[in-house]
Amino acid sequence: MKVEPETEEPTGPREFRKSKDSLITPAASPVSIHIKEGCPRMDAMQRMEQLVEQLNQYSYHYYTLDQPLVSDKEYDVLYDELVALEAAAGVQLPDSPTLRVGGELLQGFKPHRHLAPLWSLDKAQNEEQLINWNNRVQRLITDYNSKNSDNPLPEPTYVVELKFDGLTLNLTYTDGKLVQASTRGNGAVGEGILAQVKTIKSVPLTIPYSDGTIEVQGEGIMNLSVLAKYNEIAAEPLKNARNAAAGALRNLNPRTTAERKLSAFFYNVGYSDGVQFGNHQEMMAFLKENRFKVNPYVTYHDSFDKVMEVLHSIVEQRASLDYLIDGAVIKITDMRIREALGYTDKFPRWAVAFKFEAEETTTILESVSWNVGRTGKITPLAKVESVELAGVTVQNCTLNNVGDIERKNLKFALGTRVFIRRSNDVIPEILGKVTEEQDGGEILYPENCPACGFPLEQRGAHLFCNNRLDCKPQIVSRITHFASRDAMDIETFSEKTAEQLHDELNVREPAELYTLSFEDLIKLDRFGEKKANNLLQAIQQSKGRDLASFLFALGIPNTGKSTTKVLADHFCDLSAIMSATVEELTSLPDIGGIVAESIVSFFADPFMQAGIQKMLSLGVEAKAPEAAAAPVTDSFFSGKTVVLTGTLHQLGRDEATERLEALGAKVTGSVSKKTDLVIAGEKAGSKLTKAKELGIPVIEDEDEFIGLLDGK
Ligand code: NAD
Repeated sequence: MKVEPETEEPTGPREFRKSKDSLITPAASPVSIHIKEGCPRMDAMQRMEQLVEQLNQYSYHYYTLDQPLVSDKEYDVLYDELVALEAAAGVQLPDSPTLRVGGELLQGFKPHRHLAPLWSLDKAQNEEQLINWNNRVQRLITDYNSKNSDNPLPEPTYVVELKFDGLTLNLTYTDGKLVQASTRGNGAVGEGILAQVKTIKSVPLTIPYSDGTIEVQGEGIMNLSVLAKYNEIAAEPLKNARNAAAGALRNLNPRTTAERKLSAFFYNVGYSDGVQFGNHQEMMAFLKENRFKVNPYVTYHDSFDKVMEVLHSIVEQRASLDYLIDGAVIKITDMRIREALGYTDKFPRWAVAFKFEAEETTTILESVSWNVGRTGKITPLAKVESVELAGVTVQNCTLNNVGDIERKNLKFALGTRVFIRRSNDVIPEILGKVTEEQDGGEILYPENCPACGFPLEQRGAHLFCNNRLDCKPQIVSRITHFASRDAMDIETFSEKTAEQLHDELNVREPAELYTLSFEDLIKLDRFGEKKANNLLQAIQQSKGRDLASFLFALGIPNTGKSTTKVLADHFCDLSAIMSATVEELTSLPDIGGIVAESIVSFFADPFMQAGIQKMLSLGVEAKAPEAAAAPVTDSFFSGKTVVLTGTLHQLGRDEATERLEALGAKVTGSVSKKTDLVIAGEKAGSKLTKAKELGIPVIEDEDEFIGLLDGK
């Protein structure tokens, strides 16, 4: 076990030193303690020693090496167990992590003694703990007021901020110049990382405020989109945005820091020898005036009930943010109240972190199976030891492709511990192996298609089965996609139907759907007269589907619904699209080089050409709709580039698009500086966030939107 060296002891203001009180009354915890009968005190002590050693080991890897061995969730469970044991026993071991703020300093950085201490945050894991925190605040205020009736504290009001998951930054400005930047370190002394922090473009090197020295705190982060881009080409992908940011900032070579393109949000003025603030609003205004990047999600509330509401909405928006948050922070806005409430040896009493459910954990990688997709792409699917993650039991995870397995150092990871992360509702992803050693079983790559036995070909990072004509999963998913709602919209058709047609009638390509007869279908298992007729009618009806839907149904690689619409609207004719060149295609909006190449090579394939010709000869029309009437030019929407996002309840997306286009608007899929207006329905996510960041006008009320469409 390691004991904090004397020099690392905090030596800041009075509240910062360990008070005797806090040594014997650590925060209560909801974790129940299980102590065996016999000698309970010994057992509890032994467990405490074990936990302290284990947690310190984890903290060392997390804070000092930026290479965690367990997820935060796993760390927090052990930490809570220790807190509960300490509370029950009434002691804390001298090197208990419950006494510490942050981690050890790395050799190689010049230490910086913070002008005011940098605190950790008290945490609440659920509503009840948050209410307890607020009750404590109220009680302390009442106590204070009973002793200071001549100058009582006001009723508390609250600010809610996001809790960014990155690395704490402390910036020192003297006479308007950035003179130092440091990590939190142990709260009293941090590592000087000025050169590294200077690579963050949004950090101001000079500020208008020039009356002496201030220290400003914030969080250095790596945006998730930046991380994804970095990982696309990185030889060794980064497992997680928090460690990516922390590792980059604590890298001795600032060039490496610069490569990571970090960002930062600032939320506190921790020290100032000149300026003072009456409340949080004034402090935030000061930060903004001095050109610090302040996160837009800051809300102020007079009542505590509102705080709960806003926390729920942050949970909902979490997945759409372009950076990691692991909770929200609730702070008392009034500075006099803050001062009266003071600090424990670890955290301020006037703030609390509401921790969200973890989205990351570790588990054992048990086995890998291989699935064949519509385009013949072979995708590895990992089976992991089942584990709870954000309220669901996880058993399967994606591994993307063989290139991904190599880059994430997972080739020899079978039977070993891996980090997994859940994002949105998609199946969780394996981020990487916990340790660097190649100490697990080898993941063997298939040489032949697991479905049809055809030899596989590796193209880039992916394995492919080229047996398009005879590989059942490819055929079934091609036909299922062809018949799906956004494609040819063949009603009642399902994957099961495609499988049955393949198995019993040898249907191998979408074109063959148009040759099916009543006699064929009636022979099939579970097909009665009615079902057979309904299917034939639905197939017949699909022949009239428009050109864009037909193109989408073909399943051109890298080409989604919006691209096929762009193609149909521009060319208005199937044969023109089939003979379009890469140059012609890339001149269209939203079509880049990769998509253009995909389209050209798709139509150059004789197999595809034959299939299309066959469908046309069997009556498929694939026609562009008649040119619409001249667009309206005097509507609110005329000439505007509009993005629809979220769920519209009264109008479907398609209808909304049609009506907007009829009024002369251009409807596009992504928000950029060129966007004039965003219509945000329920549960709008990242597009809404981006619109707000770019200051683009947003209509969030569907009735208002419909009113404008109706010209009201
Ligand atoms: P913390 O991270 O829970 O909270 C304090 C920090 O929150 C501050 O230093 C600040 O940087 C940050 N913060 C972000 N947004 C903020 C805002 N708006 N206002 C104020 N502060 C804000 O506490 P901690 O003591 O730094 O770390 C403890 C946590 O670290 C644990 O709960 C655990 O999840 C994690 N940890 C994990 C491991 C591991 O091995 N996985 C090891 C040690 C610690």
